[in-house]
Amino acid sequence: MRRSPINVLVIDRTGLRAAVDIAGTGAFAGLSLTFAGDDGAINAATESADCVLAELADGPDAADAVLRRIRGHGIDAPVILVGHNATADEAVRFLRAGAADYLDITEIGALRLSCSVWNAVRAGNVVRRLAEAEGQQNRDAMHDGLTGLPNRQLFFDRLDMSMTLAEREGRSLALLMLDLNGLDAVTRAFGQATCDGLLRQVAERLRPMLRSSDALARLDDDEFAITLPTGASLTGAATAADKILDSVRQPYEVAGHSLTISANLGIALFPAHGARAGQIASRAEAAMRQAQQSEAAYVIYTGEGDSDGNGSPSLVHDLASAVERGEIALHYQPKVSMPQSRVCGVEALARWQHPTKGMICPDEFVPLAEQSGLIEPLTQWVLDASLTQLAAWRKSGLDLTISVNLSAKSLHSHDLAKRIEATLGALRLAPDTLMLEITESAIISDAPRARQTVAELHEMGIAISIDDFGTGYTSLSHVRELPVQEIKVDKSFVMNMAQTPDDRVIVGTLIELGHNLGLQVVAEGVENAGVWEMLNKLGCHIAQGYYMSKPLEADAVREWVANSPWGLAAGQA
Ligand code: C2E
Ligand code: CA
Ligand code: CA
Repeated sequence: MRRSPINVLVIDRTGLRAAVDIAGTGAFAGLSLTFAGDDGAINAATESADCVLAELADGPDAADAVLRRIRGHGIDAPVILVGHNATADEAVRFLRAGAADYLDITEIGALRLSCSVWNAVRAGNVVRRLAEAEGQQNRDAMHDGLTGLPNRQLFFDRLDMSMTLAEREGRSLALLMLDLNGLDAVTRAFGQATCDGLLRQVAERLRPMLRSSDALARLDDDEFAITLPTGASLTGAATAADKILDSVRQPYEVAGHSLTISANLGIALFPAHGARAGQIASRAEAAMRQAQQSEAAYVIYTGEGDSDGNGSPSLVHDLASAVERGEIALHYQPKVSMPQSRVCGVEALARWQHPTKGMICPDEFVPLAEQSGLIEPLTQWVLDASLTQLAAWRKSGLDLTISVNLSAKSLHSHDLAKRIEATLGALRLAPDTLMLEITESAIISDAPRARQTVAELHEMGIAISIDDFGTGYTSLSHVRELPVQEIKVDKSFVMNMAQTPDDRVIVGTLIELGHNLGLQVVAEGVENAGVWEMLNKLGCHIAQGYYMSKPLEADAVREWVANSPWGLAAGQA
């Protein structure tokens, strides 16, 4: 299959062309380079550029000047700036000015350059997908039936995407949690239909107050969330809060009744108040509760009233006993070896069945556990439960291996390797039946400590997989240094690769990179046969995704293995 390369327009002044030529990037990573110095040459390449690499001149406004010149040519592709000896502050300034990345000319090598290009292109894709998601017609399970607004799950998905994007562009982002008071009284006095009508009107009032990129969602009966993703500052967020509260408190006309309600609002900022979606959300919620208690219109998160600084107190409280109450369960998603079309293992994925809030996804409660010191007992429980299940399967002849996700914090625990060794020993499982999935960010957040834990696990014979591969962009060197056996290409690239040529190129390049590093390559998020075929042709080793199977309960795994075309019996035929 012919893969279309990423077209990189290189605007050089003095040394860039030589640096890029030496890197030999084109041949290595599926990049196609076009060099241009003058405006005529740039104009000729405008149409096809997927990404621009531009050399900076000297002087304080050089970045602005270069970016203006490029945009002036009508190019809206991401721009990577290349310079000499910029300080960290200067580099941040370039990113704030709108550059997708900054590279020092001495740093340019095939890996660094290609990672930077993929990620710049990917960030551009995220922007496009956010816009597409806005206009998407399918108002399915991801939307609240009453107001038509995104529900909790979709909201967390989008918050995560907005945060990735904001981080990439060096912007901050405000999350506003709005809680309505007095709905119970309305229901008691006028019935459920009137209360529903009121809620619909609240949504209708909020919607036009927000710019199209702003996300508005209904999280719970009387709780709404609003993200302001564009350059939100504290004052900007506070102004928005005033405007929202003012509007919500105006009287409503529903079914012949004139009704008023009050509301409180809590605000938290990314990145100032947290690095993960769950953390920001629980902090905005804590601020909202504080506003209710102190009868303030809104409160900006400060850490007070949230004594341990650990997010939503009630949810943390519930989480602390969730394991003991048996509310956490594991689901298992098959991994299928592509050459054999046959299951080779499963990944354990945690679920929390909350007694009143329903199913809470790990993207929400794992960060909460990390912030509140509950991650160690949770990780231990997940390891114990998944290995116990694996031992039972293997005893009954199901020859599977298991992958378990480790969060950054658990990798920093000093006795993780020892505890795993003890569990494996007690269950008489060989170490090579377990694989641990860690993310690139987990490795860089405390590299020396993480590296030591990984080394200990490796010495024990446990394999390590790099999860969400391709979403980090400075840490490839870490991956090369670590004793890693597997990379898992992130599902955000894989899911749409049939429709999105850019994603196809990225996945192809990541697989090639895996091959070059001698690693097993897994693609997650395989949702249809078309993607399976593409991956197979690209030489991907293992596939995982809804096309083969969603995550299943343990008993359903046994059934799936017996009956599915990818089951164990299929390969033995
Ligand atoms: P992950 O490790 O990247 O897991 C893959 C996620 O993608 C899972 O979501 C899975 O249900 C979903 N998925 C699988 N196939 C497809 C597909 O074809 N299409 C789409 N759209 N999605 C697919 P889930 O279970 O909600 O897990 C989310 C994340 O939570 C995981 O991402 C992992 O990072 C974390 N996590 C899950 N269980 C644990 C755990 O026990 N411990 C820790 N530390 N983290 C966990
Ligand atoms: Ca995983
Ligand atoms: Ca993943």
